[in-house]
Amino acid sequence: MARGTFRVFVGNKRVTCPFCDHQIFAQRDVKLNSTGMSLLGLDWANKAACGLICAQCGYVQMFVDPQIRYEAV
Ligand SMILES: [Zn+2]
Repeated sequence: MARGTFRVFVGNKRVTCPFCDHQIFAQRDVKLNSTGMSLLGLDWANKAACGLICAQCGYVQMFVDPQIRYEAV
């Protein structure tokens, strides 16, 4: 994913920051196996999640194997 900020959709639903209601995000891949989740024995624990970082407040949301669509701002 290119650097920059995006409007993000999962399916037909637009992603909104749960903290500040902003709708512009930066994207970073997040390795789930670095978070200790592998201790839970989850089969997706070694995957990379898609981290969405709110451009306004910095709140991070994560999605695993989502139907994500990015729209450059
Ligand atoms: Zn926010």
